[in-house]
Amino acid sequence: GKPLMEGKRGLIMGVANDRSIAWGIAQAAAQHGAELAFTYQGEALAKRVRPLAEQVGAKLVVPCDVSDDASIDATFAALEAEWGSLDFVVHAIAFSDKNELDGEYLNTTRGNFLRTMDISCYSFTAVAQRAVPLMKNGGSLVTLSYLGAERVMPHYNVMGVAKAALEASVRYLAVDLGGRAIRVNAISAGPIKTLAASGIGDFRYILKWNELNAPLKRNVTIQDVGGAGLFLLSDIGAGVTGEVLHVDSGYHAVGMVAVDAAPQ
Ligand code: NAD
Repeated sequence: GKPLMEGKRGLIMGVANDRSIAWGIAQAAAQHGAELAFTYQGEALAKRVRPLAEQVGAKLVVPCDVSDDASIDATFAALEAEWGSLDFVVHAIAFSDKNELDGEYLNTTRGNFLRTMDISCYSFTAVAQRAVPLMKNGGSLVTLSYLGAERVMPHYNVMGVAKAALEASVRYLAVDLGGRAIRVNAISAGPIKTLAASGIGDFRYILKWNELNAPLKRNVTIQDVGGAGLFLLSDIGAGVTGEVLHVDSGYHAVGMVAVDAAPQ
């Protein structure tokens, strides 16, 4: 049969390097025939993102700072000029002050609260606003979340609050856009060693904890997340919207491990 993503065009937002979750999803989509465009945040990352985009045959590689409406406008104007239509967007973007991804949530400042919410939550809606007019034949929007949205995880703090709001916005957008055959979902990924994750306090301990306590007894990879991304972006996932899909070796399902199964 024809490749799963043949004839689909998608925008990948959030590649910083080859360890980025967005890169795992991009590779899966490209392997199955999707045509891709990429955004990068600022010129410092351009030299990392361009060669990766080239590897998967992407021609359109544009800067986009999601805290700036004009920058998002320019990205979608470029897409409209190049393609005229769009089938999917991957939003794999988050930011918070490193100093507040440590210690207690109690100490969150107003400034960093607002900035974290703006970049990690609102930007998904801002992107959806510009993507929807290009999704003339329906589409799929996917963002990235973490279990810290649902339960308290050490040091995740204000980012957990932002992810909770992001997951709620997935549900609101799913209802707004369902009538236009546009699906909106999140992947709640288990911990993966990326640039963004390195800003979280005790991240190595979090990785080890998940590896030892998750049902699959291993950490997930960006390829694992790529597979789930492919499902949500393709027509295989046609009936799925408003969903938060956990790709975390099953860790979210565990309440407590038995004493004889616990790490010694
Ligand atoms: P990453 O550092 O590779 O990617 C984060 C991206 O966000 C970078 O490309 C960065 O340039 C971009 N970004 C930050 N501020 C931006 C702005 N103002 N404008 C445009 N882009 C901006 O790390 P990652 O772990 O691949 O993160 C991708 C997503 O996955 C994030 O939403 C993150 O919260 C989420 N996530 C990560 C993990 C993990 O353990 N790594 C787990 C669950 C969810």
